[in-house]
Amino acid sequence: DATHHSKGCAAVYQSQYNPYSERRLTLLAELDKAIDANKLCLHFQPQLDIEADVITGFEALIRWTHDDFGQIFPDEFIPLAEQAGHITKLTLWVIRQALLHLQELSQAGYDDIGIAVNISMVDLENDSFIEKVQRLLEGSSVAPARLTLELTETALMQDPEGALSALQALRAAGVLIALDDFGVGYSSLSYIKKLPLHKVKIDRSLVSDLASEPDASVVARTAIDMSHGLGYEAIAEGVEDIEALNLLRSMHCRYIQGYWLARPMPWEFAIEWLRTYAAHARERAAERDIRA
Ligand code: C2E
Ligand code: MG
Ligand code: MG
Ligand code: MG
Repeated sequence: DATHHSKGCAAVYQSQYNPYSERRLTLLAELDKAIDANKLCLHFQPQLDIEADVITGFEALIRWTHDDFGQIFPDEFIPLAEQAGHITKLTLWVIRQALLHLQELSQAGYDDIGIAVNISMVDLENDSFIEKVQRLLEGSSVAPARLTLELTETALMQDPEGALSALQALRAAGVLIALDDFGVGYSSLSYIKKLPLHKVKIDRSLVSDLASEPDASVVARTAIDMSHGLGYEAIAEGVEDIEALNLLRSMHCRYIQGYWLARPMPWEFAIEWLRTYAAHARERAAERDIRA
Protein backbone atom coordinates (compact mmCIF):
# COMPACT_ATOMS: atom_id res chain seq x y z
CA ASP A 1 0.00 0.00 0.00
CA ALA A 2 0.94 3.65 -0.19
CA THR A 3 2.82 3.85 3.10
CA HIS A 4 4.78 0.73 2.36
CA HIS A 5 5.47 2.05 -1.08
CA SER A 6 7.00 5.28 0.09
CA LYS A 7 9.15 3.37 2.54
CA GLY A 8 10.28 1.12 -0.30
CA CYS A 9 11.20 4.12 -2.43
CA ALA A 10 13.21 5.72 0.37
CA ALA A 11 15.09 2.46 0.73
CA VAL A 12 15.87 2.32 -2.97
CA TYR A 13 17.25 5.81 -2.84
CA GLN A 14 19.31 4.96 0.20
CA SER A 15 20.83 1.85 -1.31
CA GLN A 16 21.64 3.64 -4.55
CA TYR A 17 23.24 6.44 -2.63
CA ASN A 18 25.45 4.04 -0.74
CA PRO A 19 25.95 0.83 -2.70
CA TYR A 20 27.55 -0.87 0.29
CA SER A 21 24.93 0.07 2.83
CA GLU A 22 24.38 -2.42 5.58
CA ARG A 23 20.82 -3.07 4.51
CA ARG A 24 21.89 -3.82 0.96
CA LEU A 25 24.60 -6.24 2.07
CA THR A 26 22.17 -7.97 4.40
CA LEU A 27 19.61 -8.38 1.65
CA LEU A 28 22.21 -9.60 -0.79
CA ALA A 29 23.36 -12.26 1.67
CA GLU A 30 19.85 -13.41 2.54
CA LEU A 31 18.16 -13.42 -0.83
CA ASP A 32 18.93 -16.98 -1.83
CA LYS A 33 17.70 -18.32 1.50
CA ALA A 34 14.58 -16.15 1.28
CA ILE A 35 13.52 -17.87 -1.95
CA ASP A 36 13.75 -21.32 -0.35
CA ALA A 37 12.25 -20.21 2.96
CA ASN A 38 9.06 -18.94 1.28
CA LYS A 39 9.73 -15.36 2.29
CA LEU A 40 8.82 -14.14 -1.17
CA CYS A 41 5.23 -13.68 -2.15
CA LEU A 42 3.33 -12.44 -5.15
CA HIS A 43 0.68 -9.78 -5.33
CA PHE A 44 -1.64 -9.65 -8.31
CA GLN A 45 -2.91 -6.56 -10.10
CA PRO A 46 -5.84 -6.95 -12.49
CA GLN A 47 -5.85 -5.77 -16.09
CA LEU A 48 -9.03 -4.55 -17.77
CA ASP A 49 -10.38 -4.54 -21.32
CA ILE A 50 -12.20 -1.21 -21.16
CA GLU A 51 -14.16 -1.83 -24.36
CA ALA A 52 -15.70 -5.10 -23.21
CA ASP A 53 -15.58 -4.24 -19.48
CA VAL A 54 -13.93 -7.60 -18.86
CA ILE A 55 -10.89 -8.53 -16.77
CA THR A 56 -8.28 -10.10 -19.05
CA GLY A 57 -5.68 -11.08 -16.48
CA PHE A 58 -3.38 -10.20 -13.61
CA GLU A 59 0.21 -9.07 -13.39
CA ALA A 60 2.24 -10.92 -10.75
CA LEU A 61 4.35 -8.51 -8.67
CA ILE A 62 6.85 -9.88 -6.20
CA ARG A 63 7.40 -8.78 -2.58
CA TRP A 64 9.79 -9.97 0.07
CA THR A 65 8.60 -10.15 3.64
CA HIS A 66 11.79 -9.68 5.60
CA ASP A 67 11.98 -10.66 9.25
CA ASP A 68 13.57 -7.36 10.28
CA PHE A 69 12.78 -4.90 7.48
CA GLY A 70 9.17 -5.87 6.77
CA GLN A 71 7.82 -5.71 3.24
CA ILE A 72 10.46 -5.01 0.60
CA PHE A 73 9.56 -3.96 -2.94
CA PRO A 74 11.08 -5.39 -6.10
CA ASP A 75 12.75 -2.17 -7.27
CA GLU A 76 15.11 -2.68 -4.35
CA PHE A 77 15.87 -6.40 -4.46
CA ILE A 78 15.48 -7.43 -8.11
CA PRO A 79 18.71 -5.59 -9.07
CA LEU A 80 20.43 -7.40 -6.19
CA ALA A 81 19.06 -10.75 -7.36
CA GLU A 82 20.40 -9.99 -10.84
CA GLN A 83 23.85 -9.14 -9.53
CA ALA A 84 24.04 -12.08 -7.17
CA GLY A 85 23.04 -14.59 -9.83
CA HIS A 86 19.74 -15.55 -8.17
CA ILE A 87 17.34 -13.93 -10.59
CA THR A 88 16.61 -16.91 -12.83
CA LYS A 89 15.82 -19.12 -9.85
CA LEU A 90 13.45 -16.39 -8.69
CA THR A 91 11.84 -15.92 -12.11
CA LEU A 92 11.25 -19.66 -12.48
CA TRP A 93 9.64 -19.71 -9.04
CA VAL A 94 7.30 -16.91 -10.12
CA ILE A 95 6.41 -18.72 -13.36
CA ARG A 96 5.69 -21.92 -11.41
CA GLN A 97 3.35 -20.02 -9.07
CA ALA A 98 1.68 -18.33 -12.04
CA LEU A 99 0.98 -21.67 -13.72
CA LEU A 100 -0.53 -23.07 -10.52
CA HIS A 101 -2.76 -20.01 -10.17
CA LEU A 102 -3.81 -20.27 -13.82
CA GLN A 103 -4.88 -23.83 -13.15
CA GLU A 104 -6.87 -22.64 -10.14
CA LEU A 105 -8.53 -19.98 -12.28
CA SER A 106 -9.57 -22.66 -14.78
CA GLN A 107 -11.05 -24.74 -12.00
CA ALA A 108 -13.02 -21.68 -10.89
CA GLY A 109 -14.39 -21.28 -14.40
CA TYR A 110 -12.00 -18.54 -15.58
CA ASP A 111 -10.39 -20.17 -18.61
CA ASP A 112 -9.69 -16.92 -20.42
CA ILE A 113 -7.85 -15.08 -17.67
CA GLY A 114 -4.09 -14.75 -18.08
CA ILE A 115 -1.18 -13.98 -15.78
CA ALA A 116 1.79 -11.77 -16.66
CA VAL A 117 5.21 -12.35 -15.12
CA ASN A 118 8.12 -9.92 -15.21
CA ILE A 119 11.37 -11.36 -16.50
CA SER A 120 14.88 -9.99 -16.49
CA MET A 121 17.38 -9.61 -19.30
CA VAL A 122 19.68 -11.80 -17.21
CA ASP A 123 17.13 -14.63 -17.62
CA LEU A 124 17.29 -14.35 -21.39
CA GLU A 125 21.08 -14.55 -21.29
CA ASN A 126 20.90 -17.76 -19.25
CA ASP A 127 21.21 -20.71 -21.63
CA SER A 128 18.98 -23.04 -19.66
CA PHE A 129 16.19 -20.55 -18.95
CA ILE A 130 14.12 -21.16 -22.08
CA GLU A 131 14.42 -24.91 -21.75
CA LYS A 132 13.24 -24.71 -18.14
CA VAL A 133 10.27 -22.55 -19.09
CA GLN A 134 9.36 -25.07 -21.78
CA ARG A 135 9.54 -27.88 -19.25
CA LEU A 136 7.28 -26.00 -16.81
CA LEU A 137 4.76 -25.42 -19.61
CA GLU A 138 4.85 -29.08 -20.60
CA GLY A 139 4.27 -30.10 -17.00
CA SER A 140 1.22 -27.88 -16.74
CA SER A 141 -2.26 -28.33 -18.20
CA VAL A 142 -2.48 -24.59 -18.81
CA ALA A 143 -2.45 -23.21 -22.38
CA PRO A 144 0.91 -21.39 -22.81
CA ALA A 145 -0.80 -18.32 -24.27
CA ARG A 146 -2.32 -17.61 -20.86
CA LEU A 147 1.17 -16.77 -19.65
CA THR A 148 2.63 -13.41 -20.66
CA LEU A 149 6.28 -12.58 -20.05
CA GLU A 150 7.03 -8.88 -19.58
CA LEU A 151 10.45 -7.46 -20.36
CA THR A 152 11.19 -3.76 -19.94
CA GLU A 153 12.26 -1.71 -22.90
CA THR A 154 15.33 -0.57 -20.95
CA ALA A 155 16.39 -4.14 -20.14
CA LEU A 156 15.88 -5.22 -23.69
CA MET A 157 18.10 -2.49 -25.08
CA GLN A 158 21.04 -3.76 -23.02
CA ASP A 159 21.39 -6.60 -25.51
CA PRO A 160 18.92 -6.23 -28.39
CA GLU A 161 20.30 -9.06 -30.51
CA GLY A 162 20.46 -11.57 -27.66
CA ALA A 163 16.96 -10.61 -26.60
CA LEU A 164 15.56 -11.08 -30.08
CA SER A 165 16.56 -14.73 -30.43
CA ALA A 166 15.54 -15.60 -26.84
CA LEU A 167 12.14 -13.93 -27.27
CA GLN A 168 11.62 -15.78 -30.53
CA ALA A 169 12.26 -19.08 -28.74
CA LEU A 170 9.81 -18.17 -25.97
CA ARG A 171 7.28 -17.10 -28.57
CA ALA A 172 7.70 -20.49 -30.22
CA ALA A 173 6.92 -22.11 -26.87
CA GLY A 174 3.53 -20.40 -27.08
CA VAL A 175 3.79 -17.72 -24.38
CA LEU A 176 2.90 -14.09 -25.08
CA ILE A 177 5.50 -11.34 -24.85
CA ALA A 178 4.91 -7.81 -23.56
CA LEU A 179 7.30 -4.88 -23.86
CA ASP A 180 7.09 -3.27 -20.40
CA ASP A 181 7.59 0.38 -19.44
CA PHE A 182 7.54 1.49 -23.05
CA GLY A 183 8.31 5.14 -23.74
CA VAL A 184 11.10 5.75 -21.26
CA GLY A 185 13.84 3.70 -22.92
CA TYR A 186 15.58 4.45 -26.16
CA SER A 187 14.62 1.66 -28.50
CA SER A 188 14.41 2.39 -32.18
CA LEU A 189 11.11 1.90 -33.93
CA SER A 190 12.68 -0.26 -36.62
CA TYR A 191 13.94 -2.60 -33.88
CA ILE A 192 10.61 -2.88 -32.10
CA LYS A 193 9.01 -3.89 -35.38
CA LYS A 194 11.30 -6.96 -35.49
CA LEU A 195 10.39 -8.21 -32.01
CA PRO A 196 7.90 -11.06 -31.57
CA LEU A 197 5.67 -8.98 -29.28
CA HIS A 198 1.98 -9.20 -28.49
CA LYS A 199 1.58 -6.27 -26.15
CA VAL A 200 3.23 -2.95 -25.45
CA LYS A 201 2.77 -1.54 -21.96
CA ILE A 202 2.71 2.25 -22.03
CA ASP A 203 4.86 3.42 -19.11
CA ARG A 204 3.22 4.90 -16.06
CA SER A 205 5.15 8.17 -16.48
CA LEU A 206 3.36 8.82 -19.79
CA VAL A 207 0.00 7.93 -18.27
CA SER A 208 0.18 9.82 -14.97
CA ASP A 209 0.63 13.25 -16.58
CA LEU A 210 -2.08 12.71 -19.18
CA ALA A 211 -4.72 14.96 -17.73
CA SER A 212 -2.40 17.77 -16.66
CA GLU A 213 0.15 18.03 -19.49
CA PRO A 214 -0.80 18.41 -23.16
CA ASP A 215 2.63 17.16 -24.24
CA ALA A 216 2.19 13.96 -22.25
CA SER A 217 -0.94 13.14 -24.15
CA VAL A 218 0.84 13.65 -27.48
CA VAL A 219 3.54 11.19 -26.42
CA ALA A 220 1.06 8.65 -25.05
CA ARG A 221 -1.07 8.86 -28.18
CA THR A 222 1.99 8.34 -30.37
CA ALA A 223 3.08 5.29 -28.34
CA ILE A 224 -0.42 3.80 -28.54
CA ASP A 225 -0.73 4.43 -32.28
CA MET A 226 2.71 2.97 -32.90
CA SER A 227 1.80 -0.21 -30.98
CA HIS A 228 -1.40 -0.65 -32.93
CA GLY A 229 0.32 0.17 -36.21
CA LEU A 230 2.77 -2.65 -35.63
CA GLY A 231 -0.04 -5.04 -34.75
CA TYR A 232 0.52 -5.07 -30.96
CA GLU A 233 -2.04 -4.53 -28.23
CA ALA A 234 -1.45 -1.36 -26.20
CA ILE A 235 -1.96 -1.54 -22.46
CA ALA A 236 -1.60 1.52 -20.28
CA GLU A 237 -0.11 1.06 -16.80
CA GLY A 238 -0.45 3.40 -13.84
CA VAL A 239 -4.01 4.52 -14.56
CA GLU A 240 -4.92 6.26 -11.32
CA ASP A 241 -8.04 8.27 -12.13
CA ILE A 242 -11.07 8.44 -14.38
CA GLU A 243 -9.62 11.41 -16.32
CA ALA A 244 -6.66 9.34 -17.47
CA LEU A 245 -8.99 6.44 -18.27
CA ASN A 246 -11.24 8.61 -20.44
CA LEU A 247 -8.30 10.13 -22.31
CA LEU A 248 -6.89 6.65 -22.96
CA ARG A 249 -10.28 5.52 -24.20
CA SER A 250 -10.38 8.45 -26.62
CA MET A 251 -6.94 7.33 -27.86
CA HIS A 252 -8.32 3.82 -28.51
CA CYS A 253 -6.12 2.23 -25.87
CA ARG A 254 -8.19 -0.82 -25.06
CA TYR A 255 -6.37 -2.28 -22.04
CA ILE A 256 -5.47 -0.66 -18.74
CA GLN A 257 -3.97 -1.45 -15.36
CA GLY A 258 -3.63 0.82 -12.34
CA TYR A 259 -4.81 1.95 -8.93
CA TRP A 260 -8.03 3.31 -10.47
CA LEU A 261 -9.04 -0.29 -11.09
CA ALA A 262 -7.27 -2.01 -8.20
CA ARG A 263 -4.02 -2.15 -6.29
CA PRO A 264 -1.95 -5.33 -6.40
CA MET A 265 -3.51 -7.84 -3.97
CA PRO A 266 -2.60 -11.18 -2.39
CA TRP A 267 -3.84 -14.18 -4.36
CA GLU A 268 -6.43 -15.07 -1.70
CA PHE A 269 -8.42 -12.02 -2.77
CA ALA A 270 -7.93 -12.23 -6.51
CA ILE A 271 -10.62 -14.76 -7.46
CA GLU A 272 -13.14 -13.14 -5.14
CA TRP A 273 -12.26 -9.75 -6.62
CA LEU A 274 -12.88 -11.19 -10.12
CA ARG A 275 -16.31 -12.48 -9.13
CA THR A 276 -17.29 -9.11 -7.68
CA TYR A 277 -16.04 -7.24 -10.72
CA ALA A 278 -17.97 -9.49 -13.11
CA ALA A 279 -21.16 -9.10 -11.05
CA HIS A 280 -20.85 -5.32 -11.16
CA ALA A 281 -20.02 -5.41 -14.87
CA ARG A 282 -23.39 -7.07 -15.47
CA GLU A 283 -25.09 -4.32 -13.46
CA ARG A 284 -23.23 -1.63 -15.39
CA ALA A 285 -24.24 -3.22 -18.71
CA ALA A 286 -27.87 -3.40 -17.59
CA GLU A 287 -27.74 0.29 -16.66
CA ARG A 288 -26.35 1.19 -20.06
CA ASP A 289 -29.14 -0.82 -21.75
CA ILE A 290 -31.80 1.01 -19.76
CA ARG A 291 -30.33 4.39 -20.70
CA ALA A 292 -29.93 3.48 -24.39
P1 C2E B 1 6.23 -2.98 -13.55
O1 C2E B 1 6.30 -4.33 -14.14
O2 C2E B 1 6.13 -1.82 -14.48
O3 C2E B 1 5.00 -3.05 -12.55
C1 C2E B 1 4.15 -1.98 -12.25
C2 C2E B 1 4.52 -1.30 -10.96
O4 C2E B 1 3.70 -0.14 -10.81
C3 C2E B 1 4.23 -2.13 -9.72
O5 C2E B 1 5.15 -1.75 -8.70
C4 C2E B 1 2.82 -1.69 -9.33
O6 C2E B 1 2.50 -1.88 -7.98
C5 C2E B 1 2.90 -0.22 -9.65
N1 C2E B 1 1.59 0.36 -9.99
C6 C2E B 1 0.52 -0.27 -10.51
N2 C2E B 1 -0.49 0.58 -10.73
C7 C2E B 1 -0.06 1.79 -10.31
C8 C2E B 1 -0.67 3.09 -10.27
O7 C2E B 1 -1.82 3.31 -10.68
N3 C2E B 1 0.10 4.10 -9.77
C9 C2E B 1 1.36 3.91 -9.32
N4 C2E B 1 2.02 4.95 -8.83
N5 C2E B 1 1.97 2.70 -9.35
C10 C2E B 1 1.26 1.66 -9.85
P2 C2E B 1 6.01 -2.85 -7.93
O8 C2E B 1 5.15 -4.01 -7.59
O9 C2E B 1 6.72 -2.14 -6.83
O10 C2E B 1 7.04 -3.36 -9.02
C11 C2E B 1 8.04 -2.52 -9.51
C12 C2E B 1 8.80 -3.18 -10.65
O11 C2E B 1 9.54 -4.32 -10.17
C13 C2E B 1 7.90 -3.76 -11.73
O12 C2E B 1 7.50 -2.74 -12.60
C14 C2E B 1 8.81 -4.79 -12.37
O13 C2E B 1 9.66 -4.17 -13.32
C15 C2E B 1 9.64 -5.27 -11.19
N6 C2E B 1 9.14 -6.57 -10.74
C16 C2E B 1 8.05 -6.84 -9.99
N7 C2E B 1 7.91 -8.17 -9.77
C17 C2E B 1 8.93 -8.77 -10.43
C18 C2E B 1 9.34 -10.14 -10.62
O14 C2E B 1 8.71 -11.10 -10.18
N8 C2E B 1 10.47 -10.35 -11.37
C19 C2E B 1 11.17 -9.30 -11.94
N9 C2E B 1 12.25 -9.60 -12.65
N10 C2E B 1 10.81 -8.03 -11.79
C20 C2E B 1 9.71 -7.75 -11.05
MG1 MG C 1 5.55 -5.40 -15.54
MG1 MG D 1 5.51 -1.63 -16.32
MG1 MG E 1 7.09 0.23 -14.35
